[in-house]
Amino acid sequence: MEISEVRRNFEREVLEVKSPEQLESLRIKYLGKKGIINKFFKKLKELPPEEKPIFGKEVNSLRDYIKNLLDEKKKEIGTGKKRERIDLTLPGRFYSGGSIHPLSLIEDEIVDIFVGMGFSVVYGNEVETDYYNFTALNTPEDHPARDLHDTFYLQDGRLLRTHTSPVQIRVMEKKNPPLRIIAPGRVYRVDAFDPSHSPVFHQIEGLYVDRDVTLGDLFGTLEEFAKRVFSPDTEAMFIPSFFPFTEPSAEMKISCPFCGGEGCGVCQHTGWVEILGCGMVHRRILENLGYGDYTGFAFGMGVERIAMLKMGINDIRLFYENDLEFLEQFR
Ligand SMILES: [Zn+2]
Repeated sequence: MEISEVRRNFEREVLEVKSPEQLESLRIKYLGKKGIINKFFKKLKELPPEEKPIFGKEVNSLRDYIKNLLDEKKKEIGTGKKRERIDLTLPGRFYSGGSIHPLSLIEDEIVDIFVGMGFSVVYGNEVETDYYNFTALNTPEDHPARDLHDTFYLQDGRLLRTHTSPVQIRVMEKKNPPLRIIAPGRVYRVDAFDPSHSPVFHQIEGLYVDRDVTLGDLFGTLEEFAKRVFSPDTEAMFIPSFFPFTEPSAEMKISCPFCGGEGCGVCQHTGWVEILGCGMVHRRILENLGYGDYTGFAFGMGVERIAMLKMGINDIRLFYENDLEFLEQFR
């Protein structure tokens, strides 16, 4: 290979060097022990004496040329060490962490409030029998809640619970009063998926059974709950209602968290919003379970409902659609 050819090759190759590793392998290729320059020096020894000085001069100048260009290139790309140095002024890399789902946040908050009042947490079955979901809860055969259109039935005759109330019966069967439990969980109803309905949603059931539990205990407990979950100045109102498994039964309304009772779109300008159903456990249920000497209260609330009121959300579907822009607000 001619010296001029080697020079041209080297000039082309050195332009393509991007890293210290590439630079080093180029150095070895030309200046290493078995490199191209050393091959020229070996060739020099075999030349006749009169040719040696000229050829030797040419090889030396090529070697110096290559050395200089390699040094320049080294300065240009920097050394490996320099590249690894940490620049503390650079902004950090962003890692997108997950966050707790708003429904879980609210459920945890509600559970914490009741645990603070001495309630313990139990979990029931999502697949239930007709007996626990309806019959044992004093729901007569012809009750509309039993309508096929409201309940998801399984092929074996069991069903997806339509409320968390079956937990009341299962707990009272196993344990003796005094009982003070809450039961959070998913419930299912054949419903449209629209801004205010979902075929699956979350409830929290509460049950307190002891000697001499009164309606006043129920109202006091729930009022305290409302003040803690919304704000200390929240007011409560109880309106007579009907549930098969409580007597008397009531719907609990609170002063609208959005307008404070002044009247707004959320409360339909009444100043009050409904948050849950409650009542005294029906005597027939207690007697059937052998607790005729006891009284108790029960309540059930929708976690979505509380979350929507507390967080100012007007479409239940937002909880299930996994839209990151929505979920990231609760980080
Ligand atoms: Zn309002």
